[in-house]
Amino acid sequence: MIAEILSVGTELLMGQVLNTNAQFLSRRLAALGVTVRHQTVVGDNGQRLREACRTALERADVVITTGGLGPTLDDITKRVVAELAGQALVLRPEAEEMVREQLAKRGCPVTEACLAQAMFTPDSLLLDNPNGTAPGAIVPMGGGRVVIHLPGPPEEMKPMFRDQVEPWLQERSGRVLVSRYLRIFGMGEAAVDARLRDLEEGGNPTLSPYCSLGEVQLRATAAADTEAEALALLEPLLAEIRARLGDVVYDVREDEDGGLAVSCVAALRRRGWTVATCESLTGGLIAATLVEVPGASEVVRGGLVTYQSVAKTLLADVPPELIERCDVVSAEVACAMAEGARRKLGVDIAVSATGLAGPGGGTPERPVGTVFLGLSTAGGTRAIPLHLTGNRARIRTLTMKHALNAVRCEAEGRSGAAEEKRLN
Ligand code: ATP
Ligand code: MG
Repeated sequence: MIAEILSVGTELLMGQVLNTNAQFLSRRLAALGVTVRHQTVVGDNGQRLREACRTALERADVVITTGGLGPTLDDITKRVVAELAGQALVLRPEAEEMVREQLAKRGCPVTEACLAQAMFTPDSLLLDNPNGTAPGAIVPMGGGRVVIHLPGPPEEMKPMFRDQVEPWLQERSGRVLVSRYLRIFGMGEAAVDARLRDLEEGGNPTLSPYCSLGEVQLRATAAADTEAEALALLEPLLAEIRARLGDVVYDVREDEDGGLAVSCVAALRRRGWTVATCESLTGGLIAATLVEVPGASEVVRGGLVTYQSVAKTLLADVPPELIERCDVVSAEVACAMAEGARRKLGVDIAVSATGLAGPGGGTPERPVGTVFLGLSTAGGTRAIPLHLTGNRARIRTLTMKHALNAVRCEAEGRSGAAEEKRLN
């Protein structure tokens, strides 16, 4: 099955909105084993949309549109596709009911423009939109091809695709696909690739790596007639990857939702530990990232943002003489920050970060990217030096990721030192 993604909206062409819908859909379709050869972006213009749609239907079985389902004049996607299908848009009573229900929920009046959202070709399969007023649809285009209409707003589009379109696609493909997502921190993409290259060449299961800042993710997907058969294909592959990469694999899960913060919070919870942060160059980023995880309140007590030296003294009791003697970016100050935060907040573990994010302030002995983490528990306090590279944003983000990983490793009773060395 070949799919094409057709993102509709002048705001996408103008660069006002990033086309995250196409990214989301491409990822999910890949996980389903559906091939995507083209993504197209077209403005809210009837003629160009018609051309783009016609072209897409010549080279794909399934064309997925996002955007232009709403009640405003520039929302023309359905009309253009209906014309291509040689059908008229008619008011579909089931769709009208959906629209009315959503309008009532929002306390909005029912206008004629709103009811345009309930117009579809007679043979369209309707898709409910619990998060907005415009229903979606799967529109038969003849010759076994379909156009699938999804709304533009991502928070409406994503659940509609996951809950209604994915099952439909899977049923049509007749195969069951099972994926596992592996997350790696502490080994670069090239090193991961070098160790796994032969495994990436297999046809089924497939293994595809992709990376984000400081992290590598692997998606392993097996296709089979049943879920049990797909799992039986996957499991030996997962075991082999773990054997080859070792401890740097910090999570294996069924969805893409994990991350260092999720694993860190889970490790703290298992250990029954509370955590606090004392942050200089990250300015609260470590705490903020932890707090993004639902349920973080069980383990995250709080954090100190100690940006200027005087704040390190006022909030974390770091002696001014120590800062004077050792420099504010030093292992000693990182330790004192972590210890101070642990005592002040009465937690089981505290993590601190002090360093040079740049762009200014570097010297040959202490270049931009010099960072010290401090890690303090009842068992002792130690510093972890990092030698990071890149711009300010990258250094701050990497510092945050190292800090989360260090806390996770400590909570799991592993030092994590080997991993840190490898990534530096
Ligand atoms: P509405 O009912 O809100 O009008 P719609 O289905 O008509 O929805 P659009 O009007 O095309 O969709 O887009 C609404 C908003 O959704 C856009 O302003 C934009 O913020 C967001 N959006 C649209 N397409 C995308 C996309 N491809 N990626 C990310 N966001 C998008
Ligand atoms: Mg709109």
